[in-house]
Amino acid sequence: MAPSRTPLETEIRRRIALAGPMPVRQFMTLCLTHPQHGYYMTRDPFGRSGDFITSPEVSQVFGELIGLWAASAWHAMGQPENVRLVELGPGRGTMMLDALRASQVVPAFRQAIVAHMVEISPALQERQQQTLSALDIPTMWHQSFDEVPDGPAIILANEFFDALPVNQAIKQLNGWYERVVEIDADDNLTFGIANEVIPLFDQLLPPAVRDAPLGTIYEWRTDNLPLALGQRVVRQGGAALVIDYGHVRSDQGETLQAVGGHAFVNPLTTPGEVDLTAHVDFEAFGLAAESMGARLYGPIQQATLLHNLGIDKRAAALKAYASPDKAAAVDEAVNRLIGQGRTEMGKLFKAIAIANPTLGPLPGFEA
Ligand code: SAH
Repeated sequence: MAPSRTPLETEIRRRIALAGPMPVRQFMTLCLTHPQHGYYMTRDPFGRSGDFITSPEVSQVFGELIGLWAASAWHAMGQPENVRLVELGPGRGTMMLDALRASQVVPAFRQAIVAHMVEISPALQERQQQTLSALDIPTMWHQSFDEVPDGPAIILANEFFDALPVNQAIKQLNGWYERVVEIDADDNLTFGIANEVIPLFDQLLPPAVRDAPLGTIYEWRTDNLPLALGQRVVRQGGAALVIDYGHVRSDQGETLQAVGGHAFVNPLTTPGEVDLTAHVDFEAFGLAAESMGARLYGPIQQATLLHNLGIDKRAAALKAYASPDKAAAVDEAVNRLIGQGRTEMGKLFKAIAIANPTLGPLPGFEA
């Protein structure tokens, strides 16, 4: 009997039959954002009952502190009368909701905000509209960052960049080859190696990776979004705060992973039904933004950012009027956000900010 296949697997096989082995980047793009069958296009994967849980879903404290960060950034920008508060990949819209609530403590900032949600998924756009419907903040939705209108902007992104597709290359005797998805002799999807070497690839690699042993995998992104963010804050004013998991230095190694039902799974088995991510290369991100003239802050650990922004005080305030059960839940959530363990988010996640160099100092990145 033929094995049951997801609709997206059928589509991927059709494309491979037509055009040959598919680069990993294209596979990841289809898995996440194919218009009908992409993972994000059809579902709400977040929360305890979903596939994974993100910081804003762990505790309202996260989004509130990000909102206070945004208020300080607005201050550092010279308190422009209008500012675009942009979020990339807002999921359920929880972080924006909590950030906007926290912004009430700086009424002039709140007054200045037009919110912009950059979200490719129609299902999640709808979800975000519900989340924000009770607020009196003008809000616009866009499919991509380049649709956000001109003007000074504060740009936020949590667990967005890891969802952008990566390219993979693998080192062989005579050079680096693109890694692909193909069909093996038993008719299964499998990882393979493209037929032709990538010309002059060595020259693009960070020096530490050039002499890597045979079989080494190297990942990189080609979306140019770090460049676009750098250019935007330099030309039009503002700052961007990006939080994600990844490495502080560009490095070799495969980080592509699939998660479904809070567990790691094989990325090739149920395309379109599991989340695919890959680590963010914060060094590459920073270099790209700096090359556009932006000033760089960090990367630092998420725990450091949240400490600097006052997570302890905020948690204490929440607990002051809470029942013992609620207070314990606040502690547990905060610990998840700042804990240093492998299953906690404090050390695993990093924060980086970029800003127009004329801005005063940004909070959160003090040593
Ligand atoms: N920031 C949210 C969600 C993270 S998941 C949180 O922390 O909970 C990644 C988000 O990015 C989802 O909302 C997904 O639909 C969106 N997304 C993924 N690829 C995208 C793309 N290419 N353009 C715009 N949004 C994208």
